[in-house]
Amino acid sequence: MAQTKNFRFEELLDKHHLKKTGARLRVLSMMYSKNTATSQPDLESVMSDIDRVTLYRILNVFEEKGIIHKVFDLNGTANYAVCHADCGENHHHDEHLHFNCTNCKNVYCLDDLHMPRLNLPEGFKADSFTLYASGLCPKCSKKSAATIN
Ligand SMILES: [Zn+2]
Ligand SMILES: [Zn+2]
Ligand SMILES: [Zn+2]
Repeated sequence: MAQTKNFRFEELLDKHHLKKTGARLRVLSMMYSKNTATSQPDLESVMSDIDRVTLYRILNVFEEKGIIHKVFDLNGTANYAVCHADCGENHHHDEHLHFNCTNCKNVYCLDDLHMPRLNLPEGFKADSFTLYASGLCPKCSKKSAATIN
């Protein structure tokens, strides 16, 4: 999402000891250029020259390294979004609200909205929490207001 303009994807790959392949750089630049999550089919349609297995591996390794995190949309399709702050190898902290627009189908990371602290009943040990909302995103709610009036 809002990274600085000079953000260098090569440096990001170096930092994670990943080889700088053209495919990896293109996946990164596409994901960083969007403010919504990206599904593998989205990537496939834009990068039809990269085969599916390669894309799948790229997404997996980025997820492992803490560069991107997985979010399932309303249809159960995996979407990937850029991680912020303190995600690291095998260690994600993306417990913010994910908003799935039912109209444009985009998945948004609302980083400022965090999971509230939940006191689980005794004996329950959670590894992860998800906070999920669906409805209309700002763009679509504006549009639907315009058609009603
Ligand atoms: Zn993460
Ligand atoms: Zn929308
Ligand atoms: Zn997210």
